[in-house]
Amino acid sequence: MTGFIPVNEPVLDGNERKYLNECIDTGWISSEGPFIREFENRFADRVGRKHGVAVCNGSAALDAAAAALRITSGDEVILPTFTIISCASAISRLGATPVVVDCDQATWNMDVSKIESRITPRTRAIMVVHIYGLPVDMDPVLELAARYGLSLIEDAAEMLGQTYRGRPCGSFGDISTFSFYPNKHVTTGEGGMIVTDDEALAERCRSLRNLAFQPARRFVHEELGWNFRMTNLQAAVGLAQLERLDEFVARKRAIFDAYTRLLSGASGIQLPVASTDYATNANWVYGLVLTDAVPFDAGEAIRRMADRGVGCRPFFWPMHEQPAYLKDGLFAGERHPCAERIARRGFYIPSGLALTEEQIARVAAAVREMLA
Ligand SMILES: *Cc1c(COP(=O)(O)O)cnc(C)c1O
Repeated sequence: MTGFIPVNEPVLDGNERKYLNECIDTGWISSEGPFIREFENRFADRVGRKHGVAVCNGSAALDAAAAALRITSGDEVILPTFTIISCASAISRLGATPVVVDCDQATWNMDVSKIESRITPRTRAIMVVHIYGLPVDMDPVLELAARYGLSLIEDAAEMLGQTYRGRPCGSFGDISTFSFYPNKHVTTGEGGMIVTDDEALAERCRSLRNLAFQPARRFVHEELGWNFRMTNLQAAVGLAQLERLDEFVARKRAIFDAYTRLLSGASGIQLPVASTDYATNANWVYGLVLTDAVPFDAGEAIRRMADRGVGCRPFFWPMHEQPAYLKDGLFAGERHPCAERIARRGFYIPSGLALTEEQIARVAAAVREMLA
């Protein structure tokens, strides 16, 4: 029993140092260096897409993706309420309206049967977000997008290396995005990637990430972009990480199996779904939901785990309960009971790649103790 177990710790013992030294030795440290294109190309290949556009984080990837699709004031975009704020803010910052649907109580993903009733003449796109370990059930979403002529944005930040019916997550959207925050399957410290098969969309993302500078008249702007560029240093780390993706995904799945073995049968908690007919859980994080019989909520569970030397994090807070939106009158009176419940009853335990078997056993023991 030694040491606090953090909620995440990355593994950086491949070629990261070697490639970073190359950046320093050659002086290529900005976004102009050669690792950027190499990382973009290898990454796009890996998820089965034609184009990759590296950016400074996963939230920026969503901002640029939505802007590249020309989503604008008056448009509506349907997305899950149970997600990170970046998804909704990418829509609302463009003056468009995020329209949310509840999640499924077992998979915690968007309940795809609730999408169609929220489609209106203003709906421009559906944004799917794969949550925690399992992909969204894509077939019904693809069918709806085709039938209603809607664009599809796919936030695959938590699902690098995962597949849906054998096809890579990140290969489904007209435009799909990833994050390389240190708790993601591959990290660059901070970083993100946009992937697409559409050459024009990729070009537009490249322009938007680079302040919409123009090739011919650099400082004359037809529209406003952002500085969302990734540095060569980040891409160097990303390339080294990507080389080990298969190993990382296998390790994450092994952590999932170990937790499930140690926690199955524990009363008071709902465990993540191990597999569905379309995917096996890739364990971005190992979530737990307190059953209604437990007399305290996730906040108290997290405090009890911290007392036992284990770092945990709460689940997402639903978009329709965000003070930042409610004060503007958005989502007034909306109820999405499944998301509301898991936001209050759910949290995740340490799930990072550096976890040892001994730490996994300690975490599982702490969960059982905390519930007793
Ligand atoms: C991590 C994450 C993001 C945001 O990525 P950052 O790199 O932290 O900006 C967006 N969407 C989902 C689903 C995520 O898990």
